[in-house]
Amino acid sequence: MIFLQNYINGLLIAPQSGAYSPNINPATNQVFSQIPSSDHRDVAAAVAAAQAAFGAWSESSIAFRSQVLQKIADLILQNIDKLALAETTDNGKPLALSTSVDIPRAAENFSFFASAIRHFASEAHPNPHSLNYTLRQPVGVAACISPWNLPLYLFSWKIAPALAAGNTVVAKPSELTPYTAFLLSEICIQAGLPAGVLNIVHGTGMAVGAPLVAHPHVPLVSFTGGTATGKSIAQVAAPMFKKMSLELGGKNATIVFDDCDFEKTVSIAAQAAFSNQGQICLCGSRILVQKNIYDRFKAALVAKVNQLVVGDPLHQGTQVGATVSEAHHQKILGYIAEAKAQGGKILCGGVAVQPQTNPNGFFIAPTLIENLSPSCSINQQEIFGAVATLIPFETEAEAIQIANNTLYGLAASVFTENIRTAQRTSHALKTGIVWVNCWMVRDLRTPFGGTKQSGVGREGGYEALRFFTEPKNVCIAF
Ligand code: NAD
Repeated sequence: MIFLQNYINGLLIAPQSGAYSPNINPATNQVFSQIPSSDHRDVAAAVAAAQAAFGAWSESSIAFRSQVLQKIADLILQNIDKLALAETTDNGKPLALSTSVDIPRAAENFSFFASAIRHFASEAHPNPHSLNYTLRQPVGVAACISPWNLPLYLFSWKIAPALAAGNTVVAKPSELTPYTAFLLSEICIQAGLPAGVLNIVHGTGMAVGAPLVAHPHVPLVSFTGGTATGKSIAQVAAPMFKKMSLELGGKNATIVFDDCDFEKTVSIAAQAAFSNQGQICLCGSRILVQKNIYDRFKAALVAKVNQLVVGDPLHQGTQVGATVSEAHHQKILGYIAEAKAQGGKILCGGVAVQPQTNPNGFFIAPTLIENLSPSCSINQQEIFGAVATLIPFETEAEAIQIANNTLYGLAASVFTENIRTAQRTSHALKTGIVWVNCWMVRDLRTPFGGTKQSGVGREGGYEALRFFTEPKNVCIAF
């Protein structure tokens, strides 16, 4: 049995409570490790360590910070198999996905910001009688709080720019998937990251996340997770005037026009709905299809989804692994029951499945549902599982109206071969991200984030480095 440890002031240490809670592999429903049950005392120790480390780290050369971050990236890649297996054991996602996406992207996050900080520049505003220039100084101790769906991928997406910009960090991974964050602590020690620069405290949102957000010596909070949690974080952090970046939920539309590249669109729509068991904030869970191709598209999509291989995440051919936890599994099945009660017609899936290899795991057959009103709860609330709906539309205006008619505004995908339709629709969608004829094609330089209840602020590229620094204007008169 592995006992995970907190990483505080450069050391791997037990929680002050001395208590641990079981960490369950959702593909087997077996306990495979123990998670520190940390509390406000561990948070206080971590913040104190981060404060003490801030001076030297924030004043260290950009070259030094860049080299340490690159070393972390290199070590992640050197340990890719170990990390990928850990991610899959913790989360239930296919090992092929952890190996090809999650862990390489975590390495890329460190590598990208190791490089980006070397190129980051600030503005100057000269005029004949004075010169204004903008300093971008690190803010202090940053709180980085991340969810379970892309554990190391999203954890590193916050930590890397925070550290690159010269902040020190107290980070909290999800209590459902803490294993790779623990392995990252070991890597940071190996990479020579100075003590206290990054601290990782394990535990629940209430016991660790809440005191971290409320800590008076933490001026900046970067959070990715659910909208309800984001609201409660904002309620604490806003009156304290903390800088906040909130990356929250989504209910994203995949809009399929009748002139799309049909086969390609069917494949991408299936991928957008069911990658990572539908547990990506960007998943296209509402598939809007123009009426004159609706029946043909539906038949092709159902056939494609029925081909997806659900099973043991450790098997090479598996495309859909386990849902992250029993509670989440039940929640998703509850939504499917609600959809049926509302008159929804299940086109495929709609049930829990028990693969022979994993009879006790939490698996759901990828589920497509039609015949639901765009305004019903299933089409409005984020399910965050392998469930997507099909919604017919007649005109471009109607598609835009349906797509925009949610409280969320994270991402959308538009499929059409007409550049004008693509451009008009993209501009009219109230989301932070629009993909045209693709989904989740990522360039780390681009702004990432949502509108409405999908969040506040943007991450990615220089946006992240701007968030993790405080601009200060200096005016020199001649
Ligand atoms: P969650 O909100 O339950 O938890 C996220 C993190 O916040 C966890 O580490 C949790 O322990 C912590 N937390 C919980 N309560 C807290 C509190 N009061 N104060 C401080 N921290 C607290 O979310 P989840 O279930 O882990 O993740 C799923 C959600 O994340 C979905 O809604 C999904 O859309 C969203 N998400 C958004 C993005 C994005 O970039 N917009 C990316 C991935 C996931």
